[in-house]
Amino acid sequence: MRSVFFPRLVNDPFGDPALYVRVAHRGEALLFDCGDLHSLTPRELLKIRAVFISHAHIDHLVGFDTLLRLFLYRQNPLTLCGPPGIIERIAHRLAGYTWNLVEGYPLALIVREWGVPHGRQALFRATDAFEQSAGADFDCGEGVLFETPDYRVRAVPLDHGGIVSLAFGLEETLHIAIHRDALEARGYLPGPWLTSFKALVRRGASAHTPIAVPAVGGEEAHPLGELLESIAHTERGMKVAYVTDASPSLANGRKIVELARDAHLLVIEATFAHADLDRARIRNHLTARLAGFFGRRARAARILVFHHSPRYQHEPLRLVREALDSFTEGQEPTE
Ligand SMILES: [Zn+2]
Ligand SMILES: [Zn+2]
Repeated sequence: MRSVFFPRLVNDPFGDPALYVRVAHRGEALLFDCGDLHSLTPRELLKIRAVFISHAHIDHLVGFDTLLRLFLYRQNPLTLCGPPGIIERIAHRLAGYTWNLVEGYPLALIVREWGVPHGRQALFRATDAFEQSAGADFDCGEGVLFETPDYRVRAVPLDHGGIVSLAFGLEETLHIAIHRDALEARGYLPGPWLTSFKALVRRGASAHTPIAVPAVGGEEAHPLGELLESIAHTERGMKVAYVTDASPSLANGRKIVELARDAHLLVIEATFAHADLDRARIRNHLTARLAGFFGRRARAARILVFHHSPRYQHEPLRLVREALDSFTEGQEPTE
C-alpha cells in the first residue's frame, strides 16, 4: 500500500528512544518520545506538530529542551501529549528558566494529559513567561489524544514498574484514492473540491449530498455516492503502533496486541534477551522474544525493535534476531 507515514528511529537501537514520523504531503511530522534529538536537523525538528511522551523517565524526555529552544520562534503551537502528571512536569521544566524579554516569542505549548475518562489540557505561552493557563478537561474515552482530519493518535496505558507508560497507535483516517484517469474521462477538473469531497466521505456524509464539480463544460452537481463509485475508492488507512517501557506481564501483552492489531508497523522495545527474563521483570521492560511474539499475535505486517540494554552492545544484532525469529516463527515465549 502507499505510505502516508514515514517512521524512523532518531537514534540507534541502543540510544535514547525517539521515533520521528514524517507525514506525507503535509509538511509536518510527529515525534514519539523525546530522548536525545541532536541527530535531527532544525528543519526536521521544526516540522514536528505534536510530541507523544510515553513516560517521564529521563531518556524519554531529555530532548524537550532542544525542541523548546528551537520552537520559541515558531508561529504554530506545539502539542505535547503524555501520561498523568505530564502537565505538572512540563510546568516545572519551564519554570527552570528565566523568561523575561520574551515578548517577541510567539510559541504556545499545548500540553494534553491522558486520563480516564477525561484527560486534562493546559496552555503555556512564551509571552506569559510560560505561566500555566487555566486547564480544561477533554473526552479521553477511547484514549484519543490528538486528532486531525487525516489521522489520529490513541494512547493505551501500560504498567512500567508501578507507573503508567503510554503506548501509542497512529492511525490514518479512511484513505480515499482519487482516480485521475476517471476524472479526466468525465471532464472533471481537479481542485480544492476534491479535498472537501474527501472530508465529507470521511465524515460519513449521506450518499445523496450534492457536490459541485468544476468540469470542462462548466460546473456540474453530482451526488456524493455517485462520485465515490465513479472517481474514487477507499481503503483502510495506514497504522503505526509505538510501544516501549512495559513490564513483561500478561496484562500488558493483551493491551499491546490489541493496540497493534493489523498495524503496518509495530515499533516496540526489545530491551533484554529472553534468557534474561528475570532481569527484564526486575527492570520492567520487554524481552526481544516477547516483542516479536506480540507483533505476530497482533498480525502486524512488520516490526522494528529498539531500546536495547547496553549489556548487549558487544553482540549488537542479538536482540533484533531474537525478536524477528519470534515474530516470524511465533515461538510461544517460555516462562
Ligand atoms: Zn526507557
Ligand atoms: Zn522507563
